[in-house]
Amino acid sequence: MQTINIKNLEANEIIRKCVHCGFCLATCPTYQLLGSELDSPRGRVYLIKSALENNKASVQSLQHLDRCLTCRSCETTCPSGVQYGRLLDIGRALIEHKRPLWQKVYRLMVRKFLTTPPLFNTLGFLFQHSKVQTPIVIAKSTSKKVLLLGGCVQPTLAPNINHSVKNILAKLGYQVQESTQNQCCGAIDQHLNANHEALQKIKKNIDTWNSFEVIISSASGCGMMVKDYASFFAPEDAYYQKAQAISKKTQDIAQFLAPQDLSIFKTTDKKIAYHSPCTMQHGQKLAGLVESILSRLGYILAPTQDAHLCCGSAGTYSIFEAKISKQLKTNKLKHLSTGNPEVIVTANIGCLIHLQKGTKIPVKHWIELLNG
Ligand code: SF4
Ligand code: SF4
Repeated sequence: MQTINIKNLEANEIIRKCVHCGFCLATCPTYQLLGSELDSPRGRVYLIKSALENNKASVQSLQHLDRCLTCRSCETTCPSGVQYGRLLDIGRALIEHKRPLWQKVYRLMVRKFLTTPPLFNTLGFLFQHSKVQTPIVIAKSTSKKVLLLGGCVQPTLAPNINHSVKNILAKLGYQVQESTQNQCCGAIDQHLNANHEALQKIKKNIDTWNSFEVIISSASGCGMMVKDYASFFAPEDAYYQKAQAISKKTQDIAQFLAPQDLSIFKTTDKKIAYHSPCTMQHGQKLAGLVESILSRLGYILAPTQDAHLCCGSAGTYSIFEAKISKQLKTNKLKHLSTGNPEVIVTANIGCLIHLQKGTKIPVKHWIELLNG
């Protein structure tokens, strides 16, 4: 793992790129809601700079960093290429020691619950969103084999998503192996600053998955994390190149399907609204890809105001920053509903579960439409 000094140098490099122009303020959800400079990207860059240069950080600094959704909308807007998400990871680790003990215990309990399948599965089924809805499709004898990242919570909360991916890929002639529930990508640990645990999971996954030529993700949060694996290692680390290889092989299911002939799938003129997760549009820079596939298949996409803004799910954000998260969800659902869609679709399990809690309109993963 990179040492803290290398990380500090990296953080300084990123900070130097910020020219304080403030363009990012207009697209930052927390600044839009709270109106405070310290809850904006520019303000948080300043807080991390203070912590780095003057060792000045407080519980309030930590609170402003906690309120950040890590949506990376600011990165999409920033004309100077400030890698804000990377800076925030370093800044959070730097200020973590200011966290009160009760918060540490609470975060530890939530993290363990979500990332320990036997624990999560005992209660997670109570919150199940969808059951498997169609028969299993068996791929005809084929040598084309891919790995599907099954995810740690998705198989319990919405098993129909991975089932749909497997059926669609089988129809296209691929044999799919699904990663097991305990092969979590590490994103939950990383979001909650448990960097050692995240790194352990990353190394184990790299060693387990390296024999596959293609790795497919149906949860954009997991896909973004795996594509980012190399950033967890210094270039001289033995895992650095292996991580780069894994990242290169990883594709969102939309990337994998976009170049394929999809004429075997039913076309329709159903009216839908699509919520593009931040991890899809800002993290993986795949804005417009799902929309183009759905349009090809005849779906009518209702226009959505402020499509660049986060829905408030943001990993575990909805648990720890419930008030802001709820407001963002209300705003998002208002915008998604204005065109009277029959169904709202998205590309990440977290957004799906979060949005469904606030609306009677069915919320699905877009891939379930293709398997319907
Ligand atoms: S847009 Fe970029 S350069 Fe401008 S203030 Fe925001 S982070 Fe700094
Ligand atoms: S990641 Fe999102 S919430 Fe955080 S500063 Fe950037 S735009 Fe604001």
